[in-house]
This record gives sequence, C-alpha cells and structure tokens, in this order.
Amino acid sequence: MIPCYNEQGVIGHTAGVLLLELDNMAKNGLVSTESYLCCVDDGSRDGTWEEILQTAQADKRVRGIKFSANFGHPNALMAGLLGNHHEAEILVTIDADLQDDVSVISEMMRQHHLGKRVVYGVRLERHVDVLPKRIAAHFFYKVMRAMNRRTIEGHADFRSADARVIADLERFHEVNVYLRGLFPLIGYPSTEVHFTRLDRHAGESKYSYGKLMSLAWQGITSFTTTPLRMVFYVGLIMFLVASLVGVWILWAAWRGNPIQGWASLALMLTTFSAINMVSLGVIGEYIGKIYKEVKRRPRYIIETTTTHGG
Ligand code: UDP
Ligand code: MG
Repeated sequence: MIPCYNEQGVIGHTAGVLLLELDNMAKNGLVSTESYLCCVDDGSRDGTWEEILQTAQADKRVRGIKFSANFGHPNALMAGLLGNHHEAEILVTIDADLQDDVSVISEMMRQHHLGKRVVYGVRLERHVDVLPKRIAAHFFYKVMRAMNRRTIEGHADFRSADARVIADLERFHEVNVYLRGLFPLIGYPSTEVHFTRLDRHAGESKYSYGKLMSLAWQGITSFTTTPLRMVFYVGLIMFLVASLVGVWILWAAWRGNPIQGWASLALMLTTFSAINMVSLGVIGEYIGKIYKEVKRRPRYIIETTTTHGG
C-alpha cells in the first residue's frame, strides 16, 4: 500500500523500485508471484493519478485507488489495507517517497514466515531530518510512552501485517485513526526490523510542522485519556493550595491583621483562571473527538479504482 499525495514526480520511480523488489523476493520464494502494489491517491492536485494509471497500464501488478478529496495519510493507509486484505496474505505499507529502506521488506517477509503477524519498520537515526524535527519527535515519544507503554519509538507507518490482523483492524470503527497506536493495541506476535532513514527521493515533505504537531496531538488524544486525569490532579493540587491559603487568610483575619495584598489576589486570580482555561481546552479537545466519532462520517470516499475502468 502506497499512500500518495501530490507525488507526481516520485510515484513512477517508486513503483519501479518496488516492483523490482517484488521480483527479487518472488525469486527467493519470499512472496507469491501474484504480489502487487496498490497506490492510494489521497486527492492529489497534481498529475499523481494519471501517473498511477500509466504505471498500472505498463504493469499489471500495479493497482490504484483514487480518493475524491484529500482525506489524510492514515485514511489513505486504511483504504489500502481494508481494500486488499481479502485478497492479499501479507500487507506492507510504505511511503511514496522511499524514505524507508525497501530492502527491509524481505526481512519483514522472513519474519512473517517465522510466525510473526506484525512487523514494524523502525528507523535507527533521524539523520536526514532537521534538528528541531528530531528533538520534537524524541520529546513526543517520551510523552507518548509515559502515557501509553505500547508506543514504538522510531516507528512511522512502514509496517507489514497479515490479513488476519487487518481483519481485526477493520473492527475498529473510529474516525480519529491513529494507526501507530492501533497495531500495538491489536496485539499478536510482532517484531521490529531496523533501518536507516534515507533522503526523500523527490518532492517535498507533505508534513509541515503544523501537521506534525497535529499528528502528535492526535496521537495523544485519540489514544489516552491521561490528559483528562491530569486535569483532575492539577485541580486537586490547586484545591489543596487554595485550602492552605484559605486557612492562612482566616487566621490572619482572626488576628485582626487583614492581608494587604492586591498582588497575591491578582496572582491567584490569573493563575487559577489560566489553569481553568487550559483544562477546559483539554476537555474540549476530547469532546471534539467524541463529536467527530458520533457523527460516524465515512473515513474516506473512493472516486474510482483502476479495476473499475478509472
Ligand atoms: N500523504 C498522504 N496524504 C496526506 C499527506 C501525505 O497520503 O495528506 C502521504 C505522502 O504522499 C507520503 C506519505 O503520506 O507517501 C508520507 O508523507 P511525507 O513523506 O510527506 O511525510 P514525512 O516523511 O515528511 O513525515
Ligand atoms: Mg517522507
């Protein structure tokens, strides 16, 4: 499964490389000769779909799914997985830009033959990413692991899973899809394979800092309710502090010694209201998620596929 969003300049090359790798693996008896690629065009605005159609015409092992609009990377992956697990035995997801090491796929297949059901591609170092992105990523994994132990550091969406696992994935109906969290949640014997992340083959990253931030926030809020509990704990601590201050104030008043302090009052007022606002924001985030979930909107809309004469 290859999610593609404005990957016109990349997809042809990527398909070529992956097809070669399929040949190699078939030769070594790792995969069936009927293995194929499935490119999911996530509502690209450039010639990505035309490019996919051309590649599909040139090689029967290439298929395509075209979304009617941009539904986002996780939904593109979801469509690729759910659209193929009745047919394929093992499904691999890889980005269109070939930043993940293609040669690792054969190791993934070997692990499947050894009985693993999910194999996570884990990058060793983020050499190619710029420093702020690396620090941000590291910090994110720290936070994530503190709240949810099953997070795998350095694992993006380069992963293989067998059809059984995807059948189980299909039973998760959430709209806020966070695949990196869902697979560890599903369980089954799994393992990691390591590789070094390469440079983007062409084009530019489709993930701006804004998008990365929202991905991180999505990862936290669709997977754990720890922030909600933290709001409660902060409230509890604040209540304790307030009680102590209250006792002090009463005591001072009783001694006929009212505290002359506009500063302390103003400070408390601003601190407490700030905490209130932040807490409301966190709770609002979860309510927003619930709102999205209850609407049960389709996660994606498929406009056409290569097999339906696209
Ligand atoms: N992608 C997508 N929909 C989007 C954004 C990205 O399908 O809205 C695809 C993109 O084409 C690529 C993959 O997701 O195959 C990862 O994107 P990118 O390489 O830009 O992210 P990065 O590697 O910088 O995290
Ligand atoms: Mg990339």
